[in-house]
Amino acid sequence: MLLAITLSALAMTAIVAVRYLLTSGGFALATRAVRPGLYEGLNPQIRKEIGWSMASAAIYGIPAGVVAWGWQELGWTRIYTDVSAYPLWYLPVSLFLYMFAHDTWFYWTHRWMHRPKWFRIAHAVHHASRPPTAWAAMSFHPIEAITGAVVIPVLVFFIPVHVGILGLVLAIMTVMGVTNHMGWEMFPRWLVHSRVGNWLITASHHQRHHDEYRCNYGLYFRFWDRLCNTDRGLAKPS
Ligand SMILES: [Zn+2]
Ligand SMILES: [Zn+2]
Repeated sequence: MLLAITLSALAMTAIVAVRYLLTSGGFALATRAVRPGLYEGLNPQIRKEIGWSMASAAIYGIPAGVVAWGWQELGWTRIYTDVSAYPLWYLPVSLFLYMFAHDTWFYWTHRWMHRPKWFRIAHAVHHASRPPTAWAAMSFHPIEAITGAVVIPVLVFFIPVHVGILGLVLAIMTVMGVTNHMGWEMFPRWLVHSRVGNWLITASHHQRHHDEYRCNYGLYFRFWDRLCNTDRGLAKPS
């Protein structure tokens, strides 16, 4: 049993690491094409970003691997595979619930990590990327990585989710994590400034967090930033 759990954790770590390398690598290539020279002189920083991200991959992979094993072997979690187990309208609702719960957890732990003491201990690593690149998506100190790694493995015990929606949640998390750090806005202006776009966090919003630190703490939505008066709007496009 211990062997099976270990193998599951190792497999998940490998999946998270490969997913990171492919996504960050892909958007780093896109950056080279769309904004040539944007990462010029940043190679030493990028090496550090990849190093921290690889450590984070293990920290994310272990709890995910344990829970995946428990799901398969012991029927843990409320992940379901039969689409008709819940009404169809629940699919988008569950997607939103996962994103909102993750966003809420992220906002408050992120604000807590901007208190001077905890910033030095847990969050300075992430902000050492100045400016961040597409490789900074998982560049976290292990303490910060733990706060991020537990979210989905805990949520699956409480909020029913179809396995396909769970995959979508993870895909959105990965792509937004990378693109929010890559230094340019990939979404069209009309979308970013639309009525809906105005509530969503993309690169222009998170870039400003890296420029100015004590604002724009959110992950997906600007809800908490707006409610708590920490939203300073978007950075100038690069
Ligand atoms: Zn960041
Ligand atoms: Zn921060």
